[in-house]
Amino acid sequence: MPIYWECDRCTACCRWPGDVRMEAGEAERMAAHLGLELDEFIRRFTRLNRQRSGLSLDEKPDGSCVFLDGDDCRVQPVKPRQCRGFPNLWNFPGFDQVCRAKPRDVSADEWRRRIERDSGVNQPAGGDSCADRPG
Ligand code: SF4
Ligand code: SF4
Repeated sequence: MPIYWECDRCTACCRWPGDVRMEAGEAERMAAHLGLELDEFIRRFTRLNRQRSGLSLDEKPDGSCVFLDGDDCRVQPVKPRQCRGFPNLWNFPGFDQVCRAKPRDVSADEWRRRIERDSGVNQPAGGDSCADRPG
C-alpha cells in the first residue's frame, strides 16, 4: 500500500536553505496573485538559483523563504510545484527527521487522488528523491 505523507504545516521546509525553483508560468501566476507586474515580482522576490541557470524565490536574512509570513505562505494557492510536491513526489534521505508530515497508508487510488489535489500532478504511486528546498 502506498504511503501518503500528510503535511501538518509546520513550515520547516520553508525555513531551511536551498532553492525554490520556478517552472514556466509560475512567476506569472504568483505575480498576478500578488497584484504585481511580472518585472516587479522578479525584481522584488526572486534571485538567480545556485547553478546560475534560472530564477528561484528569494530568501529573507534568516534564510526562510521570502513568502513565509508567520506560519502562512503568501502565495499558497499558486505556490511553485516544487513546494507542492514535497514530500510525496520528491524528498531526500532522512527527510522525516525534519519534516513533521504523518505517514498514512492509503490505497493507490486514494494516493493518486490526494496527489492530484495537492499538486495537480497525475502519476503512479511513488515519487522522486532529491535534495533541495521543498517549500
Ligand atoms: S511538508 Fe513537512 S516540513 Fe513542510 S510544512 Fe509540511 S510537515 Fe512541515
Ligand atoms: S513559496 Fe514554498 S517555500 Fe515559500 S513560503 Fe510558500 S510553500 Fe514555503
